Amino acid sequence: MRFIRFQQGTSEVQTGWVFEDRVGLVEGDPFGHFRRLEAHAALSSVRLLPPVQPGKIICIGRNYAEHAREHHAEIPELPLLFMKPPSAVIGPEETILLPPQSQQVEHEGELAVVIGKQGRRISPENALDYIFGYTIGNDVTARDLQRKDGQWTRGKGFDTFCPLGPWIETIFDPSDVMVTCRVNDEMRQMASTRDMLFNVRQLVAFISSVMTLFPGDVILTGTPAGVGPLTDGDEVAVTIDGIGTLRNPVASDPASS
Ligand code: ZN
Repeated sequence: MRFIRFQQGTSEVQTGWVFEDRVGLVEGDPFGHFRRLEAHAALSSVRLLPPVQPGKIICIGRNYAEHAREHHAEIPELPLLFMKPPSAVIGPEETILLPPQSQQVEHEGELAVVIGKQGRRISPENALDYIFGYTIGNDVTARDLQRKDGQWTRGKGFDTFCPLGPWIETIFDPSDVMVTCRVNDEMRQMASTRDMLFNVRQLVAFISSVMTLFPGDVILTGTPAGVGPLTDGDEVAVTIDGIGTLRNPVASDPASS
């Protein structure tokens, strides 16, 4: 099942589900008890919002060996954790804004895990019970600031630096799916999730050994090799087989001119 958050016209934010090219309302709590109404509205008639408003976004650095190598970085022995602020989240088709502080903003197409149940010290064997579903993320990064600061919070944390969507797919096997990222139809990144150093089960277990995971929390599982620059006027599209495509235009932050 595909969950969305959306607006139709000037309506309030609603939760819905998608069937083929139709949208229906979801009443109640998607993480708890809910009811699906019939899918009547055309998907093209609604504005998709980020499919979840995460309490926290936990990201994994260097989870594909090829990506670690392209940055001449060591392959980590344990998952390398960092975080992005929830204020960075935008939805499909929303614009990624290039901040004036950076000369090198890059895309990072990633599989995103959405947590569905509160948990601490979750075992890898039980990890899937705590997952609500999967969506697509773009861990947009100001690479020059990331390098300069050592700490990654500034380079990863600008507003608009965490596109998520277009929906949460609840029926999905994350063990071997293709993640691709195109910029203006030029293929930049292409890898299978089977090349992850730490798989989804291991990541949920490792993160929850540190911090409690809550419904709506998002894990960005790391990016394959091929990260590259974004410039004013680009369109970046991350596709994951079995989920869909997350598209976002790119523009200079108008506040900087
Ligand atoms: Zn990343």
